[in-house]
Amino acid sequence: MFPLRRVGSKILKQWRTPAAAVSQTQKNFSSEAPRPLSVLTEDELAMKDTIRKLATEQIAPLVKKMEDEHKIDETVRQMLFDNGLMGIETPVEYSGSGCGFLTMMLVVEELSKVDPAVAAYVDIHNTLVNSLFMKLGTEEQKKKYLTNLCTKYAGSFCLTEPTSGSDAFSLKTVAKKDGKDFVINGSKMWISNSDVAGVFLVMANADPSKGYKGITCFIVERETPGLSVAKPENKLGIRASGTCMVHFDNVRVPEENILGEYGHGYKYAAGFLNEGRIGIASQMIGLSQGCMDATIPYTLERKQFGKKIYDFQGISYQIAHLQTQLEAARLLTYNAARLKENGMDFVKEAAMAKYFASEIAQTLTSKCIDFMGGVGFTRDFPQEKFFRDAKIGTIYEGTSNMQLQTIAKLIEREYKQ
Ligand SMILES: Cc1cc2nc3c(=O)[nH]c(=O)nc-3n(C[C@H](O)[C@H](O)[C@H](O)COP(=O)(O)OP(=O)(O)OC[C@H]3O[C@@H](n4cnc5c(N)ncnc54)[C@H](O)[C@@H]3O)c2cc1C
Repeated sequence: MFPLRRVGSKILKQWRTPAAAVSQTQKNFSSEAPRPLSVLTEDELAMKDTIRKLATEQIAPLVKKMEDEHKIDETVRQMLFDNGLMGIETPVEYSGSGCGFLTMMLVVEELSKVDPAVAAYVDIHNTLVNSLFMKLGTEEQKKKYLTNLCTKYAGSFCLTEPTSGSDAFSLKTVAKKDGKDFVINGSKMWISNSDVAGVFLVMANADPSKGYKGITCFIVERETPGLSVAKPENKLGIRASGTCMVHFDNVRVPEENILGEYGHGYKYAAGFLNEGRIGIASQMIGLSQGCMDATIPYTLERKQFGKKIYDFQGISYQIAHLQTQLEAARLLTYNAARLKENGMDFVKEAAMAKYFASEIAQTLTSKCIDFMGGVGFTRDFPQEKFFRDAKIGTIYEGTSNMQLQTIAKLIEREYKQ
């Protein structure tokens, strides 16, 4: 059964899963046999197809406008809610779509082929906000917030501050107990979706004497007095994704607004960012494939010296090399997602996937501009946007150095055992 209740109901009537892919999934794999990573289930394939159609029909025509206006168009945001993409993993009882983790990654990948900024909006909302509510929320919190997050408003995850980036747990925002309330003071920086978010998950230190063990996660609604959102940053890439500073000036929240346990915020931030990294890897493989898909046909048409430029080995071998790297990144990403979905250790694999996918996305998109020649350097073609959008992959949800640090620590642990 196709689990996505509402996804593309109109579109679903039109899509056709490629016959070859269906017969491959049905013919060759018993339920016990390990599946090759590149073989998706029928539901996963159906979802991929659906999102591809939604993205090409309803997002693609607006990409330039959204980039110029530095915001995601209202019609696109509504379409994402209407089609269940703002609650991909969220259970149906909270108005979500009840899909698996890999399906969520496939959605991010497909959206990124068309607009990595829209993908960032969907990814961060789903992997960092919905996931925290799903796993840590009380029944009351889930009913109140998850339902709205699936149907009404976006969410933001607020960890980074002006003086704490990679060293996230040195954060300075405090939450001082006052009777049954907490009063939050501080500023968060680079907060995605904060231009439109209805709710913010805020990491604040409720007991600085305990160091990072005082960090607690608070739910703060947008209308809460004292919360203010600055104007969006003027960024290199994913320009339509709203990234702003968020200030908390004596923001009072009741203690019921603690998400999870008091003093466990650092664990939640670290844990959920591990999952989120697979989302960024998915964004990077999606945008890389989108860039390739826009470039290869041009090389098959454009002629120089009386030949298609693809026919020059200097071009086709480079494309073969890049497509191989992209496939390796995709397999790392799907493997990390499958591990996570099956409740297995995935931290090293997630860091590897994000590291590799974001590094190759930079090279690949830059090379695609080269393959296009002069036109690739203009805004009339999509390669330059993919190139700019790729840059964020090595920075947010942990820089490439931070991924290498995680991988190195885990390798050391394996060899010490
Ligand atoms: C567009 C965008 C969206 C974002 N969205 C969010 C969001 O929604 N929520 C949120 O909380 N944050 C968000 N962030 C913040 C993001 O996670 C941080 O920018 C990132 O973690 C890096 O922190 P920093 O910018 O302070 O860089 P720094 O930590 O200052 O790093 C600068 C450089 O130093 C290197 N470095 C630092 N420490 C070490 C070390 N120990 N070893 C080796 N090298 C090191 C880094 O790798 C990097 O190259 C976003 C950022 C951007 C740009």
